[in-house]
Amino acid sequence: MNKKTVKDLDVGGKRVLVRVDFNVPVKDGEVTDDTRIRRALPTLRDLLERGARPVLISHLGRPKGAPDPKYAMDPVAKRLRELLGAPVRKLDGATGPEVEAALDDAPEGGVTLLENSRFYPGETKNDPELAEGLAALAELYVNDAFGAAHRAHATTVGVAEKLPAAAGLLMQEELDYLDSVLRTPERPFVAILGGAKVSDKLGVIESLLGVADTLLIGGAMCFTFFKAQGYGVGDSLVEDDYLEEAKRLLGEAGGKLVLPVDVVVAEAMEEGAEARVVPVGEIPDGMMGLDVGPETVEAFRSHITDASTVFWNGPMGVFEIEAFAKGTEGVARAVAESRATSVVGGGDSVAAVSKLGLEDEMSFISTGGGASLEYVEGKELPGVAVLPDRIDRGE
Ligand code: ADP
Ligand code: MG
Repeated sequence: MNKKTVKDLDVGGKRVLVRVDFNVPVKDGEVTDDTRIRRALPTLRDLLERGARPVLISHLGRPKGAPDPKYAMDPVAKRLRELLGAPVRKLDGATGPEVEAALDDAPEGGVTLLENSRFYPGETKNDPELAEGLAALAELYVNDAFGAAHRAHATTVGVAEKLPAAAGLLMQEELDYLDSVLRTPERPFVAILGGAKVSDKLGVIESLLGVADTLLIGGAMCFTFFKAQGYGVGDSLVEDDYLEEAKRLLGEAGGKLVLPVDVVVAEAMEEGAEARVVPVGEIPDGMMGLDVGPETVEAFRSHITDASTVFWNGPMGVFEIEAFAKGTEGVARAVAESRATSVVGGGDSVAAVSKLGLEDEMSFISTGGGASLEYVEGKELPGVAVLPDRIDRGE
């Protein structure tokens, strides 16, 4: 990554506005998965060690541009306090004279967490006035919120244009891992794609076919490909609008694109539904494919075992339901056991990996679902593009 990083900034004694991705699940006032908070700690600790006074801002959930107690940052502040080992002060706003006054007597050695950026309607509109208000809070800006980098919002783009800016350590790590996979993968490079929709991931399929040696396809998206090949797919999820695209990709991919050979079918996508395994092409009418079958897992495993680089996005089946979780579990274990450099992205895929307790077996787990996919697709992430390049180091 050729962007300035927090290490390039002289932060001692300065107020640094840090855009973090603290968009975590909250239930009954408690953070139920603190992964994203923990992943921001290296940048925060680096800033504190160098005598900076970090001011943190994040969005949380989808409040509608107005304060909503359901989405207040207090549970996040509480968890951050436990994790950081330094004082965490939480304010009830994110801009304005009261916030500015409170920051004037920010205590040394601690951080200040601002209120949810999406309580302000200007956030998602990248409103220049809000960006100005945020810029008034600090002397420097650091973006460590990779998961929000694909959005051009006031906290990710607007304010970055108004202050000396740099990438945080997590942002840097995310981009470096994705770059190493996409630009200089050690081969064989095996990509694994699954999940619900083909339409969401067409660009990703296309781009991965360009760099990967093998692309394994599971999840609901395989049924659009099967239908495009002329197989019966019963009631499986199919995107008929994308059959032509699927045909084209199959033609262009040659042997690179590997589809399942067997699938787990049931009459309904529900707990307790009776499931059985059938070969592809024999999905009975009235049944839907909800997972890849055991032969497919073995076939996928042998590709994964031979790989030196693996990129995985999207579960192989409806892993939320026990009866349809084996495909995802099999693939997760194969990736965990392989010696390949493995990068996992996508909210549900990451949830599946952590449900199995296999996080530590992966080389890198991306905190950004949508952002990592857009990056793989080759799209420019506005929150990254706006950060200055590193060439002019020392200016
Ligand atoms: P990620 O968040 O990892 O990018 P997606 O959001 O694209 O993944 O897809 C995850 C969803 O796909 C899961 O909720 C899972 O239940 C669903 N899914 C996987 N396989 C199937 C299938 N065969 N039929 C219907 N839904 C599926
Ligand atoms: Mg998802």
